Amino acid sequence: ETPATSVPAATGDAGAIAALGTAFAAQRAAFATDRRPSIEARRERLGALIGMMLANRERISAAVAQDFGAHPVPASDLIEVLGVVGRAQHVLEHLEEWMAPSPRHTDPAMLGTARAHIEYQPKGVIGNIVPWNFPFDLSVGPMVDMLAAGNRVIIKPSEYTPACADLLAEMVACTFDPDLVTVAVGGLELARAFSSMPWDHLLYTGSPAVGRQVMQAAAANLTPVTLELGGKCPAIMTPNSVTETNVESVIGTKLIKSGQMCVSVDYALVPRSDLDTFVAHAQSFMARAAPNYSRGEECTGMISPRHLQRIEDMLEEARASQCRIVTLEEDGRIDRETRRMPMSLAIAPSQNLRIMQEEIFGPILPVVPYDDLDDALEAINAGERPLGLYVFGDDAALTEHVLAATHSGGAAVNTCAIQSALPSMGFGGSGMSGMGRHHGIEGFREFSNPRGVVVRGAGDLIDVFYSPYAKAAGLVQA
Ligand code: NAD
Repeated sequence: ETPATSVPAATGDAGAIAALGTAFAAQRAAFATDRRPSIEARRERLGALIGMMLANRERISAAVAQDFGAHPVPASDLIEVLGVVGRAQHVLEHLEEWMAPSPRHTDPAMLGTARAHIEYQPKGVIGNIVPWNFPFDLSVGPMVDMLAAGNRVIIKPSEYTPACADLLAEMVACTFDPDLVTVAVGGLELARAFSSMPWDHLLYTGSPAVGRQVMQAAAANLTPVTLELGGKCPAIMTPNSVTETNVESVIGTKLIKSGQMCVSVDYALVPRSDLDTFVAHAQSFMARAAPNYSRGEECTGMISPRHLQRIEDMLEEARASQCRIVTLEEDGRIDRETRRMPMSLAIAPSQNLRIMQEEIFGPILPVVPYDDLDDALEAINAGERPLGLYVFGDDAALTEHVLAATHSGGAAVNTCAIQSALPSMGFGGSGMSGMGRHHGIEGFREFSNPRGVVVRGAGDLIDVFYSPYAKAAGLVQA
């Protein structure tokens, strides 16, 4: 049962919107009485967050499986629970160092004995709009950084993950005072109202299309935003890199959440002469590591019938074109009840297909041949900047060339997606894949106001900046 202290679930969104307003006002008022929470208070909050995640471990995996139709428990445990706990532990280790004022140089000839520093001040009340694909990792994960920086937080989960949203609301209400952290559960109307609140900062994770609307709503309040968006993340196989290990890395990454992951490999660029080798390695990996994958316990379902239909439509369109479809599973078929489906490769698709135009977010991997690496890089650069970019090859000069010639939010060499999971490293997009960072010191700073402070000392020449300016004449001559 959800304790009365959390923002109640909507019966229609009007109630939830009113409750959001009340919760926001309460957080603002509480923040006004505690504008610089001590390191001890922040540590205690992070400790409570870790305890909350560990105490609800099994329930978190069960709620994720319920919302997805099917979901492997080890994956939710690793990503949604232990990943978040690891983030909090990393922050606890570094908080003192991150909170310390950062001294800045002052010119003694001009400013005498004045001292200057940057103070990382909490921003205040932060809103977090969460997508459906990682309901805890993307709600509680950024909350680690937000609380570490001394803020208060209201989370709005996705309407596609009702079981996770209810569990999160309950967990948070049992752990935190609602004037510190609370969860607003509701539908689209609530989502719109949420993005229009005068937050001190707003984090949105989701599609670029909605990100644009959220940024527009935030602009009315001049609320700063962090946008974690998506895009088409390429895996670039440089010549001689189509090995068993590298193809396993690409296909293995694509299997995570059946491709419903923002940093998943969206498509692979493969030297034309290695196309068949790529397909053969993909097939042998699946046969060895994941036979009958879509019927087994390790396969995640599509989040909703509508999302399943979208992937089916995209695959059908590709099949109807000249493109060869290779299903990486014998007898693979769709299970409508759990919305699980087999993984397919789309070989040499034409550029006008939906799988080459839209972020796929499902178990289809276009395998795109190239003749010249630089042409392939140019094709990437002709599109929007991806969230992640992966390059494979043993020639360090060549992989470095690929990194230098492209642009993306993050990148990985000889592996995929892991750049998004390091507690020590800021994570985010570039261009259409987003702006701003969370995770690590970059996240702490994202949710802080870097206030520059000068303390006047003795022997300065500050008065040359105001009348009468005749005082400055000697200074200029000197
Ligand atoms: P979604 O449908 O769950 O929407 C995200 C959130 O936006 C939800 O909470 C929803 O209620 C809210 N929302 C919807 N319309 C809104 C509106 N008009 N105003 C305010 N809020 C609104 O998730 P999605 O968009 O389908 O997520 C998939 C996308 O998210 C993909 O593009 C993926 O790449 C991206 N993604 C990015 C990251 C990242 O960290 N960069 C992580 C996960 C997903």
